[in-house]
Amino acid sequence: MNRCFFLFGILLSAIGFFAWKHVFNRQHYQDSCSNFRSPVRTLEGHPFTCGWQQLRPKTFGDFVPYAFIQPNGSWCWSNAGFMASLHGPGLLVDTLMDPVLTSTMVAELKPATGTGGGEGRIGAVVFTHPDVDHILGNQAVSMEVPRLGDVKAQQDILAQAKTLHRMRFTVNLGYLLWQALQLIGGPRLLPSLPGWMRPRALQVFSFANYAFKLGGFNLHTIDADKLPAFAKTIQTGDEITLDIGDASPLPVKFWQMGSIHSKSDSVLLLPQSRVCYTGDLLFIGIAPVMWAGPAKSWVTALDDLLKATGEDWLFVPGHGPVTDAIGVQHVKSYFEYLHQAVSENCADLPLMQPELDETCAWRTLERMPNQLKEHFHEPERIVICAVIERVALRTGAPAKVDVKFKLQWISKMSEYELKRDYLSTRLMRSEL
Ligand SMILES: [Zn+2]
Repeated sequence: MNRCFFLFGILLSAIGFFAWKHVFNRQHYQDSCSNFRSPVRTLEGHPFTCGWQQLRPKTFGDFVPYAFIQPNGSWCWSNAGFMASLHGPGLLVDTLMDPVLTSTMVAELKPATGTGGGEGRIGAVVFTHPDVDHILGNQAVSMEVPRLGDVKAQQDILAQAKTLHRMRFTVNLGYLLWQALQLIGGPRLLPSLPGWMRPRALQVFSFANYAFKLGGFNLHTIDADKLPAFAKTIQTGDEITLDIGDASPLPVKFWQMGSIHSKSDSVLLLPQSRVCYTGDLLFIGIAPVMWAGPAKSWVTALDDLLKATGEDWLFVPGHGPVTDAIGVQHVKSYFEYLHQAVSENCADLPLMQPELDETCAWRTLERMPNQLKEHFHEPERIVICAVIERVALRTGAPAKVDVKFKLQWISKMSEYELKRDYLSTRLMRSEL
């Protein structure tokens, strides 16, 4: 009996040590500089490299716009912006996925913006939308600094604060599972499994795989009580002032575009410098993901944006490199195709049958023109957009999805990658 307890104790210790080593003591992302990036269209002077980049010369106006870029722009590798004042503190646009990445970004602000009177000081933070990859780094900016954003974004942030612990638990569990699966061969094991076992195994592997990717972010450092709490909510046309020094309004236009990509999407225009911070209404070089829809609203929003700007404007996307009006047009074509594919190519799949949404979605990917695939890496993300498009068309309103739904679909994207990388096309088609 004593021997059993002894062996049991050793087993528990081994599991504990494994969990500590691989989950709690793991290496987390410090920056995006070593991320793999596929070739994407970039503008001269605006490379797709990590860190701050100045968008216009200092002679261009009182505010000098900057973008903080995180390659490769895939899941949760988002961008941010800063408008540096030559006379005082500036305006930060969005934070990043976690406080560690955001702290690095804030620390690099002063050397990047150095010579202005503001010296990289942050006078306020304005949020374009409430998705995790743009808000969870909030606590890295002094809590004294006022936060601004629209009322619906604030409501969604408060709702997400309640589910943060569940998201963290799910990611940690999957991360541990992925490490354990590596001990028995990892996804290379998949082709050797019997056919009946493969679909379930794929689900387990894909859950663990996406958790492994998200688990690299410093989620353990996030304090749910320190997510953005807006000093005041703002709406289209409201002036933004910084409560320091002379409180004259910033030459910035805040523009609510509605619930399209997320629960609430807004953009910021800096007409003096001809720069627009679009949040996630633009994904450049990586396929956009739509969580609200429908596609028509996205097309209209981009048309409005193009009308309000011009060919010589620069656009800072939520993901990917800085772009121009041509980049905006590419994103517009993606959503025009999505609209056409779901309404025409899926005409034989009645909209009122939700169980057919996924069939329509995979068909949308299958028939996606090569020209679009060339502009957008990870084109399989259009599958999520097509499911959301059907939901939005069925209900006649933007879809309302929670974190659980998002994680499920990110997991499905991992499943697609694993099938593509480890199973042959024949196996994918006939046995799964
Ligand atoms: Zn994002």
